Amino acid sequence: MQLAKRVGTLTPSTTLAITAKAKQMKAEGYDVIGLGAGEPDFNTPQHIIDAAVASMEEGHTKYTPSGGLPALKKEVAAKLKRDQGLEYGVKEIIVTNGAKHALYTLFQVLLDEGDEVIIPTPYWVSYPEQVKLAGGVPVYIEGAEANNFKVTPDQLKQAVTEQTKAVIINSPSNPTGMIYSKEELKALGDVCIEKGILIISDEIYEKLVYGGHKHVSVAEISDKLKERTIIINGVSKSHSMTGWRIGYAAGNSEIIGAMTDLASHSTSNPTSNAQYATIAAYSGTQAPVEEMRTAFEERLNIIHQKLVDIPGITCIKPQGAFYLFPNVKDAAKLAGCKDVDEFVEKLLTEAQVAVVPGSGFGSPDNIRLSYATSLELLEAAVERIRDYIQSKQ
Ligand code: PLP
Repeated sequence: MQLAKRVGTLTPSTTLAITAKAKQMKAEGYDVIGLGAGEPDFNTPQHIIDAAVASMEEGHTKYTPSGGLPALKKEVAAKLKRDQGLEYGVKEIIVTNGAKHALYTLFQVLLDEGDEVIIPTPYWVSYPEQVKLAGGVPVYIEGAEANNFKVTPDQLKQAVTEQTKAVIINSPSNPTGMIYSKEELKALGDVCIEKGILIISDEIYEKLVYGGHKHVSVAEISDKLKERTIIINGVSKSHSMTGWRIGYAAGNSEIIGAMTDLASHSTSNPTSNAQYATIAAYSGTQAPVEEMRTAFEERLNIIHQKLVDIPGITCIKPQGAFYLFPNVKDAAKLAGCKDVDEFVEKLLTEAQVAVVPGSGFGSPDNIRLSYATSLELLEAAVERIRDYIQSKQ
């Protein structure tokens, strides 16, 4: 079958590939510890589940407006006001089938063939693929490990061309867990104002911040920055609702309107009962969000220390999200591997620990470990990694 050219360039997700291999090994009876997960290991809080059930029993099982229920858009607006001090009208918000779909739809309405989107590395795996699917060209700038994996205003300035439409800022970051400070965001934002490009601000890990670090949205810095920012967020990570598929975009009403038109011909609407659940998530108690954050922080503090105690491994301490992104170049050498990809393969087959190679995120010397799993398993996994490296010397 001759498939369309546009899918020919698609790179399969490295995260999903390693997860699939780990699952297969588990099915074959191997005791694999999976640290590939991109989702919280807690169930959705009960009051949110109850709200979804009640909505179905009340008959809310039909199509909703394409851009989401007005009542939910109002809750999203209230959330943005409460957390970021930002005012958005309902025409400036679209509810989507997850944040991933918000991004996908955004690139579809924004990009013409050849338009460029600047993507700082290491990046979340779907950004380049989504840009390419929309006919756009990903342009990478390196968030150097020596600069805490963050890009500088000079790098951004130099990457902008006549074709540049937007830059993506993902803070807290998947995979590095780093957070841009208000000052850093302002400096990057000033370049965007000067060059006239949009900022796509992916804030999906907003609620998962540690060590007293704070999440700041670039849109809250000034009206000028708000005007050129599209905020992407959702409840997947904050409320442990990955399977419900509810996200949103907030920003310029013309862009949001086009996204809504596109959604009307593609998804029709986000699932109705998931939207009612999200109303409860935003209007009800936020205590479970903080409980989950505290649990992640406790794990981070323990596991990060154990990890950096392993010879050959260095790891900048993440400030948010639920990933560690250690540099294992030396550890791979110590273990006799030719590169980090081979080290990841060996960790799975010989130590039975599944991690994601950094090459998939544009950072080939690193690996990504998710700590969205129990402390007991995390400790066992880190011990296996240490023992494996030691056994090769
Ligand atoms: N953005 C980043 C940086 C992510 O890591 C993810 C999920 O892994 C998403 C967006 C997508 O989230 P959602 O589940 O809401 O589609």
